[in-house]
Amino acid sequence: MAFYRGKVLRIVALTPRMRRVTVGGEALRGYIHTGHFDEHCQVWFPRPGETRVEIPAEAGGSRQPPLARIFTVRRCDPAAGEVDIDFFLHEGGIASPWVRNARPGDPFVLTDSHGHDVVPDDADWRFFVGDSTALPAIGLMLERLRPGVRATVIGIVPDESEQQALASPGDVDLHWVVASTPAEIVTATLHAFEAFERPAGAGYFWVGGEATAARSIRRALRSAGVPSNRFSATGYWRANSEEWDRRYDAIGDTLDERVAAARKAAKDRDSFLDELDRIYADAGL
Ligand SMILES: Cc1cc2nc3c(=O)[nH]c(=O)nc-3n(C[C@H](O)[C@H](O)[C@H](O)COP(=O)(O)OP(=O)(O)OC[C@H]3O[C@@H](n4cnc5c(N)ncnc54)[C@H](O)[C@@H]3O)c2cc1C
Repeated sequence: MAFYRGKVLRIVALTPRMRRVTVGGEALRGYIHTGHFDEHCQVWFPRPGETRVEIPAEAGGSRQPPLARIFTVRRCDPAAGEVDIDFFLHEGGIASPWVRNARPGDPFVLTDSHGHDVVPDDADWRFFVGDSTALPAIGLMLERLRPGVRATVIGIVPDESEQQALASPGDVDLHWVVASTPAEIVTATLHAFEAFERPAGAGYFWVGGEATAARSIRRALRSAGVPSNRFSATGYWRANSEEWDRRYDAIGDTLDERVAAARKAAKDRDSFLDELDRIYADAGL
């Protein structure tokens, strides 16, 4: 993993709860982005009370787990040495408090970018559903559509002031749904998926949102026999993640062997993810 040290250049409120942080600096000139539709990186945050971010290569291997979270690379200009990341503000966590206090000039550390998704050009239709954390990815994907291709988008936001203008060369049918609590967001995500009337022809589903909702949609698509190159369903965050972490810490080590065996035996990424899902479900995670 490569690390890039930059500085906050600008912070703009796109909506009351969405902050666009532009970071830049010499190290970001030539930042390599993948061009995947879901391009994302890790952002590493300072520990409480510190301003400098410790990264393993410099610290000689920290024993403390990193304060890192995953964010979409919303815009990248390697020539100018700039990257934009849009942060959705919610209660708790490390990212939101950091963003609320961030000022131009603050240090910022991000990793190189990764991605998996390529929204197919040859699909007859595309369906995207995501909550506020997935709006940066949806915005990026819509910008990367070929002119004229059809996409239906359901954006789930806590209230109407969080709706964003999402530009696209595609033929986009954008709908907003209001849901604010984690339980409401999960229900809204599942409902949007179930209520979507699939047009004729080959399609593509994309889901980014609360982990249990994304997992349940992924299972439904897999058991309906939808080929793996025709969908992507990713957990972007987890409701009550502290409780999940507690349970994982208690039994995670016991799963390592099964996960390693599944990785070895899997014929592709999707069959590995199917098996991973079974392992975690068996363990009550
Ligand atoms: C591929 C990918 C791309 C992503 N891109 C973006 C992006 O561009 N912008 C963005 O804002 N997020 C994005 N996310 C989601 C982001 O990584 C998570 O929301 C992350 O958990 C935020 O960390 P945190 O420190 O704010 O909260 P955490 O420490 O993870 O959680 C703290 C508490 O807040 C709760 N919580 C976490 N997220 C939410 C939420 N959205 N609503 C309500 N409660 C919540 C948790 O359950 C926990 O109780 C992306 C995730 C992935 C996997």
